[in-house]
Amino acid sequence: MFDHIERFYQPTTLREALLLIRKVGKRGRIVAGATDIVTQADRSTRFLVDITRLGLNYVQGNHRGCSIGATTTMAVLEHSPVIRALAGGILAKAAATCGSIQNRNMATVGGNLANASPAADTAAVLLALDAQVVVASSRRKRKIALAEFYSGPHQNTLIGELLTEIVIPASPGGGRLGWSFQKLGRTETDISLVNVAAGLQADARGRIKWARLALGAVGPIPLRARNAEELLRGNSLNEDLLTRVGEAVMKEVSPISDSRASAEYRREMSAVLARRALRECAAQAGIKL
Ligand SMILES: Cc1cc2nc3c(=O)[nH]c(=O)nc-3n(C[C@H](O)[C@H](O)[C@H](O)COP(=O)(O)OP(=O)(O)OC[C@H]3O[C@@H](n4cnc5c(N)ncnc54)[C@H](O)[C@@H]3O)c2cc1C
Repeated sequence: MFDHIERFYQPTTLREALLLIRKVGKRGRIVAGATDIVTQADRSTRFLVDITRLGLNYVQGNHRGCSIGATTTMAVLEHSPVIRALAGGILAKAAATCGSIQNRNMATVGGNLANASPAADTAAVLLALDAQVVVASSRRKRKIALAEFYSGPHQNTLIGELLTEIVIPASPGGGRLGWSFQKLGRTETDISLVNVAAGLQADARGRIKWARLALGAVGPIPLRARNAEELLRGNSLNEDLLTRVGEAVMKEVSPISDSRASAEYRREMSAVLARRALRECAAQAGIKL
């Protein structure tokens, strides 16, 4: 990857970075922690634009939710009190599973999303949290729902743009909430064979007001299992409903077979992890199964 690089830029302001990204065009590549780029053999890249000096390493919580700068590392997310207190700490838990400590010290959350791997661990969580991403070019700035950010495996909808910030809205209050992140990998530091993020809110009688279920590594892009979410809404969680939700999840995923696992195994495990996640959510929300 790096033997064809003619120039390595290290801008120190966002404006400078955006102008450089425009100038280098298709022969340039943004680089943050470099933990994905270093494994990719893209020999057409001539210029690298390092974005780690732009002041985008921050976590800000307020009553409206939370904003995270794109170059915030997994290690920072893992230990941030704001992120640990948000939605049962599922984003901190996901960040803590992103490879070894050496990897987590370098890997950024913006890179995890922009790289658009279907297996990215923060993607499923941020989908379940209804996150949006702020993206900017030298000409404009826009906000996109994360659910619309992906266009295929390792493809996103950025057009010469930089992902600058992730915005997580505050969870609806006034009810019994539960959240869960589940990951299945071959080893503790390996990428996911399947990952699941779930959240739900129950009313005073234990009926589910809303549920969110997102999965990674089981389709071309990280996905929300909308049919399974719909099955949960308005109902009381019990073993029969969990079985039906598992069946719905298996229909919504479209995994592939690769060197890590077969499609059949991933499909089965999607249901297992979804049920496990919902059980954890139920326990937190005080729902007895
Ligand atoms: C040993 C190892 C283990 C790993 N384990 C895991 C794991 O368990 N779970 C997991 O999810 N990932 C894992 N990864 C993958 C990787 O660490 C993450 O995806 C990481 O978050 C990528 O961030 P980065 O800053 O290193 O991205 P980079 O490598 O710098 O960039 C990745 C891609 O995103 C683009 N990009 C980066 N930042 C931006 C931005 N702000 N705006 C627009 N484009 C941008 C780059 O141009 C590039 O195409 C692992 C990697 C390694 C090497």
